[in-house]
Amino acid sequence: MAELVLKVGKERSVIDRHPWIYAQSVARINGRVGNGETVTVVDAKGKPLACAAVSLHSSIRARVWHFAPEKGVDDAFFGARIAAAVGWRRTFPTLAGQEGIRLVHGEADGLPGVIVDRYGEVLVMQLTFAGADRWREAIVAALRAEVPEAKALFERSDSEIRQREGLPPRRGVVWGALPAAVTIEEHGVRFLVDVEQGHKTGFYLDQRENRRLVQALAKGMRVLNAFCYTGGFTLHALRGGASEVWSIDSSSTALALLAENLALNEMTERRTVTVEGDVFRKLREWYQSGERFDLVILDPPKFAPSAAYAQKAKRAYYDVNLFGMRLVRPGGYLLTFSCSGGIGAGEFQEIVAAAAVANRRSGQIAARLTAGADHPIGLAAPEGEYLKGVLVRLD
Ligand code: SAH
Repeated sequence: MAELVLKVGKERSVIDRHPWIYAQSVARINGRVGNGETVTVVDAKGKPLACAAVSLHSSIRARVWHFAPEKGVDDAFFGARIAAAVGWRRTFPTLAGQEGIRLVHGEADGLPGVIVDRYGEVLVMQLTFAGADRWREAIVAALRAEVPEAKALFERSDSEIRQREGLPPRRGVVWGALPAAVTIEEHGVRFLVDVEQGHKTGFYLDQRENRRLVQALAKGMRVLNAFCYTGGFTLHALRGGASEVWSIDSSSTALALLAENLALNEMTERRTVTVEGDVFRKLREWYQSGERFDLVILDPPKFAPSAAYAQKAKRAYYDVNLFGMRLVRPGGYLLTFSCSGGIGAGEFQEIVAAAAVANRRSGQIAARLTAGADHPIGLAAPEGEYLKGVLVRLD
């Protein structure tokens, strides 16, 4: 097997079990390797540390499969990792029996670049790393064996990350056939999931537990759901007995699915207002016209895809929270999120606090929120925590 030799002093993160090896930590690669091929990672003195796959086009030059370099990697390795990922989720309290669930969450499940989401009987796979792409067949076979009740596997390897990996986009049915409509039930609400064209693999599964919180909180409330996508928080607020829910998103396709979701749950005659538009502009408008809500939900897209965008992103988070907060009536709640990996939980909380100060409002953090257990965080790579939220009660 080819060897990836680390520069002097660059072995620390590998010894500490971090899965990423940056290009600037690599002294050289002994032997010829193709994109995604397996290498033994050795320190500057030649001591083997890990088994990894190289990514020739990415600044993350290699991602570690495991830290027992004598073992190598084969089909059975992928079988075992997928069995483990699927296995613990089948019995974990908040996950057992969920129809919409992430089965494999990349690095945190020991499978860099492998995402697998389950929507009822449909599995959706996304491979975003050259190493994972090389083992595609083994991964597909393992999924078939470990989730025998699935009726179809659909591939959504079409995220822009693949370009950086030098991989072409791939989208389509791998085996089985998609049903006419893919739906899931989540805490008593049924959702249509557009696995072929929707965001990510079709649905924001990471907000499942936070949507449940909204259902429990919303009774009698007038709710604004900003960046609503296909209506996740909207439908849960209605199920929880909200008196009225306003939803806004810039995507007409997402809003069309929201309308279908309302119909599917027989919620069409409930008090809902749906607006296609820009949240930043509409929040200002509604403030001027005197609209006020008991609960304002802000779940914007990733403003900072990486730390490099953090400054600009911070400004956007500040603005959206500044204007969103103004629509919360005294004694009401702001439920606000950031899914930017480049912004930490503490930093995000500071942004929300600064927006409150600028609005001359006091508040209390009633809950700190994150993704559900099916989106675990690797102990050795805590920066994998991307979703963070706070529920703030405002005076
Ligand atoms: N809360 C949702 C997920 C939100 S994803 C759920 O639980 O399912 C973020 C959404 O923000 C996307 O649907 C995207 O279309 C929308 N969006 C992005 N920028 C926007 C803007 N400036 N104004 C309105 N919507 C926007």
